[in-house]
Amino acid sequence: MICRLQSLSPMYNLLTQIRNCKACEHHLPFGANPIISASSESKIIVIGQAPGRLVHYTSIPWNDKSGDNLRGWMGVDKPTFYNPDLIALMPMGFCYPGTGKTGDLAPRPECAPLWHDKLLTLMPKVELVLLIGHYAQNYYLTTSAMENLTKTVRSFEHYLPKYFPLPHPSPRNNIWQTKNKWFKVSVLPELKTKIKNILGELS
Ligand code: SF4
Repeated sequence: MICRLQSLSPMYNLLTQIRNCKACEHHLPFGANPIISASSESKIIVIGQAPGRLVHYTSIPWNDKSGDNLRGWMGVDKPTFYNPDLIALMPMGFCYPGTGKTGDLAPRPECAPLWHDKLLTLMPKVELVLLIGHYAQNYYLTTSAMENLTKTVRSFEHYLPKYFPLPHPSPRNNIWQTKNKWFKVSVLPELKTKIKNILGELS
Protein backbone atom coordinates (compact mmCIF):
# COMPACT_ATOMS: atom_id res chain seq x y z
CA MET A 1 0.00 0.00 0.00
CA ILE A 2 2.80 2.41 0.94
CA CYS A 3 4.54 1.73 -2.39
CA ARG A 4 1.30 2.35 -4.29
CA LEU A 5 0.71 5.65 -2.43
CA GLN A 6 4.33 6.69 -3.04
CA SER A 7 4.02 5.96 -6.73
CA LEU A 8 0.96 8.22 -6.89
CA SER A 9 2.74 11.20 -5.30
CA PRO A 10 3.67 14.07 -7.63
CA MET A 11 7.18 14.25 -6.10
CA TYR A 12 7.80 10.55 -6.62
CA ASN A 13 6.68 10.86 -10.24
CA LEU A 14 8.82 13.95 -10.83
CA LEU A 15 11.92 12.31 -9.31
CA THR A 16 11.33 9.28 -11.54
CA GLN A 17 11.16 11.55 -14.60
CA ILE A 18 14.37 13.33 -13.56
CA ARG A 19 16.22 10.08 -12.91
CA ASN A 20 15.33 8.98 -16.44
CA CYS A 21 16.33 12.31 -18.03
CA LYS A 22 18.76 12.18 -20.94
CA ALA A 23 18.03 15.66 -22.29
CA CYS A 24 21.69 16.69 -22.63
CA GLU A 25 23.34 13.27 -22.59
CA HIS A 26 25.20 14.02 -25.83
CA HIS A 27 27.17 16.66 -23.84
CA LEU A 28 28.03 14.32 -20.95
CA PRO A 29 31.28 12.38 -21.45
CA PHE A 30 30.33 9.81 -18.78
CA GLY A 31 26.63 9.57 -19.68
CA ALA A 32 23.53 10.71 -17.83
CA ASN A 33 23.24 9.78 -14.17
CA PRO A 34 21.06 12.43 -12.48
CA ILE A 35 21.86 12.76 -8.76
CA ILE A 36 19.04 14.37 -6.81
CA SER A 37 17.52 13.94 -3.35
CA ALA A 38 14.29 15.76 -2.47
CA SER A 39 10.94 15.33 -0.73
CA SER A 40 7.73 17.30 -0.46
CA GLU A 41 8.65 17.58 3.27
CA SER A 42 12.14 19.11 2.71
CA LYS A 43 12.90 22.11 5.00
CA ILE A 44 16.27 23.17 3.56
CA ILE A 45 17.58 22.95 -0.01
CA VAL A 46 21.26 22.72 -0.87
CA ILE A 47 21.80 23.97 -4.42
CA GLY A 48 25.32 23.06 -5.42
CA GLN A 49 27.16 22.97 -8.73
CA ALA A 50 27.11 19.45 -10.21
CA PRO A 51 28.20 15.98 -9.10
CA GLY A 52 31.91 15.22 -9.23
CA ARG A 53 33.44 11.99 -10.48
CA LEU A 54 33.16 10.10 -7.17
CA VAL A 55 29.53 11.16 -6.74
CA HIS A 56 28.82 10.03 -10.32
CA TYR A 57 30.26 6.58 -9.69
CA THR A 58 28.59 6.06 -6.29
CA SER A 59 25.32 7.90 -7.11
CA ILE A 60 25.46 9.41 -3.60
CA PRO A 61 25.27 13.22 -3.53
CA TRP A 62 28.10 15.11 -1.78
CA ASN A 63 29.89 11.81 -1.20
CA ASP A 64 33.35 13.36 -1.17
CA LYS A 65 35.64 15.76 0.72
CA SER A 66 33.45 18.69 -0.34
CA GLY A 67 30.48 16.95 1.27
CA ASP A 68 32.43 16.38 4.49
CA ASN A 69 33.33 20.08 4.57
CA LEU A 70 29.77 21.16 3.82
CA ARG A 71 28.32 18.99 6.60
CA GLY A 72 30.89 20.51 8.96
CA TRP A 73 29.86 24.03 7.91
CA MET A 74 26.18 23.18 8.40
CA GLY A 75 26.73 21.37 11.70
CA VAL A 76 24.77 18.29 10.58
CA ASP A 77 25.64 14.61 10.58
CA LYS A 78 25.19 12.23 7.64
CA PRO A 79 21.79 10.80 8.73
CA THR A 80 20.41 14.37 8.89
CA PHE A 81 22.08 15.49 5.68
CA TYR A 82 20.78 12.50 3.73
CA ASN A 83 17.22 12.68 5.10
CA PRO A 84 15.28 14.29 2.20
CA ASP A 85 12.41 15.15 4.55
CA LEU A 86 14.89 17.56 6.17
CA ILE A 87 17.38 18.50 3.44
CA ALA A 88 17.00 18.39 -0.35
CA LEU A 89 20.18 18.09 -2.43
CA MET A 90 19.52 19.69 -5.80
CA PRO A 91 22.54 20.82 -7.86
CA MET A 92 22.46 23.24 -10.79
CA GLY A 93 23.28 20.28 -13.03
CA PHE A 94 22.18 16.82 -11.91
CA CYS A 95 24.76 14.88 -13.95
CA TYR A 96 28.57 14.85 -13.83
CA PRO A 97 29.69 17.16 -16.65
CA GLY A 98 33.27 15.84 -16.87
CA THR A 99 36.56 17.48 -15.96
CA GLY A 100 38.58 20.11 -17.81
CA LYS A 101 42.10 21.43 -17.35
CA THR A 102 41.28 23.43 -14.21
CA GLY A 103 38.70 21.18 -12.54
CA ASP A 104 35.16 19.97 -13.10
CA LEU A 105 33.32 21.53 -16.03
CA ALA A 106 30.36 23.83 -15.51
CA PRO A 107 26.96 22.30 -14.76
CA ARG A 108 24.94 21.74 -17.93
CA PRO A 109 22.95 24.95 -18.53
CA GLU A 110 19.83 23.02 -19.68
CA CYS A 111 19.33 21.31 -16.34
CA ALA A 112 18.17 23.93 -13.82
CA PRO A 113 15.69 25.62 -16.23
CA LEU A 114 14.30 22.20 -17.11
CA TRP A 115 13.76 20.88 -13.58
CA HIS A 116 14.22 23.35 -10.73
CA ASP A 117 10.88 25.15 -10.86
CA LYS A 118 9.02 21.84 -11.03
CA LEU A 119 10.86 20.64 -7.93
CA LEU A 120 10.44 23.90 -6.00
CA THR A 121 6.69 23.86 -6.62
CA LEU A 122 6.51 20.49 -4.87
CA MET A 123 8.54 21.59 -1.83
CA PRO A 124 6.22 24.02 -0.01
CA LYS A 125 7.87 23.60 3.42
CA VAL A 126 11.31 24.93 2.48
CA GLU A 127 12.56 27.65 4.84
CA LEU A 128 16.12 28.14 3.64
CA VAL A 129 18.01 27.64 0.37
CA LEU A 130 21.80 27.36 0.46
CA LEU A 131 23.30 28.72 -2.77
CA ILE A 132 26.69 27.11 -3.13
CA GLY A 133 29.08 28.66 -5.62
CA HIS A 134 28.62 31.27 -8.30
CA TYR A 135 26.46 29.19 -10.67
CA ALA A 136 23.68 28.85 -8.09
CA GLN A 137 24.12 32.44 -6.87
CA ASN A 138 23.97 33.98 -10.34
CA TYR A 139 20.94 31.88 -11.27
CA TYR A 140 18.90 32.61 -8.14
CA LEU A 141 20.11 36.03 -7.03
CA THR A 142 20.29 37.39 -10.60
CA THR A 143 20.86 41.14 -10.42
CA SER A 144 21.08 41.19 -6.62
CA ALA A 145 24.30 39.10 -6.69
CA MET A 146 27.36 41.26 -6.00
CA GLU A 147 30.16 41.62 -8.54
CA ASN A 148 31.97 38.57 -7.20
CA LEU A 149 31.36 35.56 -4.96
CA THR A 150 33.38 36.92 -2.05
CA LYS A 151 31.24 40.06 -1.85
CA THR A 152 28.03 38.07 -2.24
CA VAL A 153 28.97 35.68 0.59
CA ARG A 154 30.10 38.54 2.80
CA SER A 155 26.69 40.19 2.24
CA PHE A 156 24.81 37.00 3.16
CA GLU A 157 22.43 38.83 5.52
CA HIS A 158 21.11 40.78 2.55
CA TYR A 159 19.63 37.57 1.05
CA LEU A 160 18.07 36.14 4.20
CA PRO A 161 15.65 34.75 5.21
CA LYS A 162 15.25 32.81 1.95
CA TYR A 163 18.76 32.42 0.55
CA PHE A 164 22.15 31.82 2.18
CA PRO A 165 25.04 32.19 -0.33
CA LEU A 166 28.19 30.16 0.35
CA PRO A 167 31.46 29.39 -1.46
CA HIS A 168 31.99 25.87 -2.75
CA PRO A 169 33.31 23.69 0.11
CA SER A 170 35.87 21.98 -2.12
CA PRO A 171 39.33 21.57 -0.53
CA ARG A 172 40.51 23.59 -3.58
CA ASN A 173 38.91 26.60 -1.88
CA ASN A 174 40.97 26.34 1.31
CA ILE A 175 43.10 29.21 0.02
CA TRP A 176 39.97 31.35 -0.30
CA GLN A 177 39.07 30.55 3.32
CA THR A 178 42.58 31.42 4.50
CA LYS A 179 42.34 34.77 2.73
CA ASN A 180 38.82 35.47 4.02
CA LYS A 181 38.97 34.68 7.72
CA TRP A 182 35.69 36.50 8.36
CA PHE A 183 33.92 33.55 6.71
CA LYS A 184 34.72 31.12 9.55
CA VAL A 185 34.38 33.75 12.25
CA SER A 186 31.12 35.43 11.33
CA VAL A 187 29.33 33.53 8.52
CA LEU A 188 29.56 29.87 9.56
CA PRO A 189 28.22 30.42 13.10
CA GLU A 190 25.18 32.18 11.56
CA LEU A 191 24.68 29.33 9.13
CA LYS A 192 24.81 26.72 11.90
CA THR A 193 22.34 28.70 14.03
CA LYS A 194 19.86 29.09 11.15
CA ILE A 195 20.00 25.39 10.34
CA LYS A 196 19.65 24.38 13.97
CA ASN A 197 16.63 26.66 14.36
CA ILE A 198 14.95 25.17 11.30
CA LEU A 199 15.69 21.53 11.96
CA GLY A 200 15.37 21.89 15.73
CA GLU A 201 14.04 18.71 17.23
CA LEU A 202 13.42 17.18 13.79
CA SER A 203 16.96 15.96 13.17
S1 SF4 B 1 22.29 17.16 -16.64
FE1 SF4 B 1 20.11 17.52 -16.21
S2 SF4 B 1 19.21 17.92 -18.24
FE2 SF4 B 1 21.19 16.88 -18.59
S3 SF4 B 1 20.69 14.69 -18.72
FE3 SF4 B 1 21.28 15.14 -16.58
S4 SF4 B 1 19.28 15.51 -15.56
FE4 SF4 B 1 18.94 15.72 -17.78
